[in-house]
Amino acid sequence: MELREKLEVLADAAKYDASCASSGTEKRNSAGAMGAIGSTEGMGICHAYAPDGRCISLLKILLTNFCIYDCLYCVNRRSSNVRRARFTPEEVVKLTLGFYRRNYIEGLFLSSGIIQSPDYTMEQLVRVAKLLREEHGFRGYIHLKTIPDAAPELLAEAGRYADRLSINIELPAEPSLGRLAPEKDARAIRRSMGNLRLRIEEAKEGPKAPRFAPAGQSTQMIVGADGTDDRGILATSSTLYAGYRLRRVYYSAFSPIPDSSAALPLQAPPLVRENRLYQADWLMRFYGFEVAEIVPESGNLDLQIDPKLAWALRNRDRFPVDVNLADRELLLRVPGLGVRTVDKLLSIRRHKAVRMEDLGRLRVPLAKVAPFIVTADRQIGRSPLDRLDLRKRLAPKPEQLSLDLAA
Ligand code: SF4
Repeated sequence: MELREKLEVLADAAKYDASCASSGTEKRNSAGAMGAIGSTEGMGICHAYAPDGRCISLLKILLTNFCIYDCLYCVNRRSSNVRRARFTPEEVVKLTLGFYRRNYIEGLFLSSGIIQSPDYTMEQLVRVAKLLREEHGFRGYIHLKTIPDAAPELLAEAGRYADRLSINIELPAEPSLGRLAPEKDARAIRRSMGNLRLRIEEAKEGPKAPRFAPAGQSTQMIVGADGTDDRGILATSSTLYAGYRLRRVYYSAFSPIPDSSAALPLQAPPLVRENRLYQADWLMRFYGFEVAEIVPESGNLDLQIDPKLAWALRNRDRFPVDVNLADRELLLRVPGLGVRTVDKLLSIRRHKAVRMEDLGRLRVPLAKVAPFIVTADRQIGRSPLDRLDLRKRLAPKPEQLSLDLAA
C-alpha cells in the first residue's frame, strides 16, 4: 500500500481519539498538495496546547489500526470489518519530518492498535519518538499514546522522548470496562497512570533530574457507550485529577460504529453533552467547584444552559455579589465572569470602584451577569433573582437552522 493510502486509513482511524484535541476549534479549510491537510477537521491534523499555552497543530495518526483486542466500542477492534494498514516507524518519521519541514505541523500525536503484544507495540511507538529525537534532532512536540500493559521500562523510555503521554481510561466505570473491553485491565491502567505521575514529579524535582514528559499526562473517556451519568463521569475525572495529577481528561462522545455489538447504544449521545462535560470539567479545574455542586444528585448536566449558570440559578441566595467587595472565589462563581475577567476586575478595583461600564470594556456579557451582581453605579437588591422566568430569560435562544436550498 502506498504511503499516501496508509495515511488516509490511519489518520481516519485516529479521529476517534479525542485526547490530543483542543475543544472548540473552528472549521477551517485549506487546499494543498495533500488535500485537506491543514484543515482542523481534515485528514491527520489535530490541535493541542503546548506546555507554554500555544495552540499547535499535530499530525495525528495511528501506527496501525490492526489490533489483537476486541473492545466493543472501537472501530479498530479485531472483529471489525475495516480497511487495515500499518506504518513502519521509519515511515511515520518520514511523514512527520516532511510535514514539519513544510510547516503543516508542529508535532506528532501517535497512537496505535495493539499488535503482537503490548510490549512490542510500545517498542514501536518509542522507536518513532527515539528516531525523531536522536537521529533527526526533532524539536517539535510529541504526544505518545501509551499501552498500559507495556513494561514500565518502555513507558520510562517513552517519557524521555515525548512531551506528553496519555493512557486512555476508556470508560468512566470499571464494570463497564470489564463488560465492553474485557481484555483491558482497569487496574493496569491506573497502575501505569500512577507510575507516570511519579516519574513526571521526579523529573520536576531539579534541573539535573532526567527529562520526563514535561507536558504531563492526559486521558480520554468515552461518553455515552455505557449508562454512567454525568455525575459518575465527573466523579471519575475528579479522582483522576487528584490521584494522578492529569493535565486533562478528554470526553469523547460515543459514536455508533458499523456492525456494533447489541451491548452498545444505537445512537450517539447529543454532542452538547460532551460540551457540557468540558464546561463542568473546567469549573472543577479552574473555578473551585466540587462535583456535588455541579451535579447535586445522580443524573446528567442540564443541556439547555451551562453548568455555572445552572449552579447559580439553584443557589440564588448566594447572589447578588458586589464586584467591589467579593473575594476572588465568589466572583468566580458569577455566571459570565471568567478567570481572566475576575483577575482584571481585582486589579481595577485596587485603584477605583468598578462600574458597569468597566464590565462592558472587559467584554463581559452584561445581560447574563447583570442579575447576579451589584456595581458602584448599580444596586439591584434581590428582585431579578426572584423572578421565576430568570432561567428562561438567560438560556440561549434556540437557533433557527437554515436550509441550504442550493445543495
Ligand atoms: S485496544 Fe485500542 S485499538 Fe484495540 S480494540 Fe481496544 S480501543 Fe481499539
